[in-house]
Amino acid sequence: MLNFISKLPHVNQSIFSAMTTLCSEHQAVNLSQGFPDFETPNELINLVYRKMLSGHNQYAPMAGLLRLREILAEKIEHLHGYYYNPESEITITAGGTQAIFTAIATIIRPGDEAIIIEPAYDSYAPCVKIMGGFVKSITLEPPGYHINWQLLRRLISSQTKLIIINSPHNPTGTILDEGDMQELIKSVQQTDIMIVSDEVYEHIIFDGHTHLSVSHYPELQERSFVISSFGKIFHNTGWKVGYCTAPSKLMGEFRKIHQFEIFSVNTPIQYALADYLQEEEHYLQLVDLYTEKRNLFSHLLQGTKFKLLPCKGTYFLLAQYGDISDEPDINFAKRLIKDYGVGSIPISSFYTQNMDYKTLRFCFAKKDDTLKEAAERLSKI
Ligand code: GLN
Repeated sequence: MLNFISKLPHVNQSIFSAMTTLCSEHQAVNLSQGFPDFETPNELINLVYRKMLSGHNQYAPMAGLLRLREILAEKIEHLHGYYYNPESEITITAGGTQAIFTAIATIIRPGDEAIIIEPAYDSYAPCVKIMGGFVKSITLEPPGYHINWQLLRRLISSQTKLIIINSPHNPTGTILDEGDMQELIKSVQQTDIMIVSDEVYEHIIFDGHTHLSVSHYPELQERSFVISSFGKIFHNTGWKVGYCTAPSKLMGEFRKIHQFEIFSVNTPIQYALADYLQEEEHYLQLVDLYTEKRNLFSHLLQGTKFKLLPCKGTYFLLAQYGDISDEPDINFAKRLIKDYGVGSIPISSFYTQNMDYKTLRFCFAKKDDTLKEAAERLSKI
């Protein structure tokens, strides 16, 4: 028998794939995995088609199409006040998840420690472990999910190389405010700790709040990989295109890994995105679009037994079901699919210790009719 030892013995199929598969099996309304059920803009699809017809079908430059990187540099400067050099500080990636992997692989060596704030996106901890690192996590609790920075600082040791942050936050819908950013600065100042800042929901933020990017704060920018995604902005998560920004020295190391992992990303789509990004309305209008969807879905759920938590950003709404059942959230989420035909994600799957606060995540990046159908089914509980 071949002796083969798994690097990730405790990892199963991702909860997002598992719940989406279960939804298809039961023809449930799928509010689990985070993706829109409405189309990417026609104009953008036509642009890709035209770019293909005009012969942009071979490898893109390893770091991404320069024109796209130049436009991103301007966009980031306009929004956050820092100009990343498009030549050396921006890389186009095959989606946010690849950028997260590559950034973590750039930083973490065997024995290093990374601090993760849970609940957290499911890829962070496995990426650290694949690189031979150790995860230390702090646990946020509902309803506020506030970060206790003193507690976080207690986790820092001489081995700590990385803190991963995420705002707007998947799955809780919370955002980091100015106080949090100052606490983060206080936590890493005078250390060599690096930051991976997952900002893929940067344009989905509500009620007059503005997204605070680490790139706005020099003390953070100098040590950060910032991760962004086009899939979240232009409703095409299946195109798998994102990008990462970092100071040139760090980005140089990132690219050494990126080039052997992916080499380069889909060419015609990069040309199309470069054109489509010229119009800032194309991404700034997301605030209105998703504010309406959040409000509609929250309103529709008012009459149900679910207790809704505030959602300041992202396209996820958390709902507590403690008044309906005391089943573990994973069981309850499965039963919701099988008996009521609505898919969600149990929040315990975002905690390494699977903490169960009887809370589910619903994705409201859906057509109004889909949200209405889901709410009607949920109101039968
Ligand atoms: N980011 C998406 C979510 O949180 C899904 C990503 C994935 O399926 N890997 O649902």
